[in-house]
Amino acid sequence: MCSIVKQNEFYNVFKENGYRLTTQRKIVLDILIEYKEEHLSIKEIFDKVKEIYPHIGMATVYRTILLFEKVGIVQSIYLNNDYMRYQLKDPQEKHFHHHVVCEHCGAVFDIQDDLLELLEEQVFIQKGFTVTNHKVVLIGICKECSESLGSQN
Ligand SMILES: [Zn+2]
Ligand SMILES: [Zn+2]
Ligand SMILES: [Zn+2]
Repeated sequence: MCSIVKQNEFYNVFKENGYRLTTQRKIVLDILIEYKEEHLSIKEIFDKVKEIYPHIGMATVYRTILLFEKVGIVQSIYLNNDYMRYQLKDPQEKHFHHHVVCEHCGAVFDIQDDLLELLEEQVFIQKGFTVTNHKVVLIGICKECSESLGSQN
């Protein structure tokens, strides 16, 4: 996430959508803000939340994340054929950011530039379909891996 996280901007989203920012929701949100660069599974989020709020249940954390996704402050991504992963989403950003995954080492990088405007426009022109979002995962070999693979030859 390239923009500086303004905590209040996230808190306001709740008010705007008619939800209360309960203590539990605030703790989960603060964890996502703290780990905004990472792509966490529900279990990983749960473990971090539990350290601060030991009585919370996994189901509550899961429901909270789904609510965050609904109001547009979390994006879900399926990266490595393991678990669905979640990451904070800037409410100002219209669409989800893209991901680049290295097939060799599993490294994940965020790509903030949408660059899909032309595709979105063409889909509308050709199919009358309005693109409201997208989940893009590009698979390949990262810079470090190509260098080390190259040097083995
Ligand atoms: Zn887009
Ligand atoms: Zn790699
Ligand atoms: Zn990401």
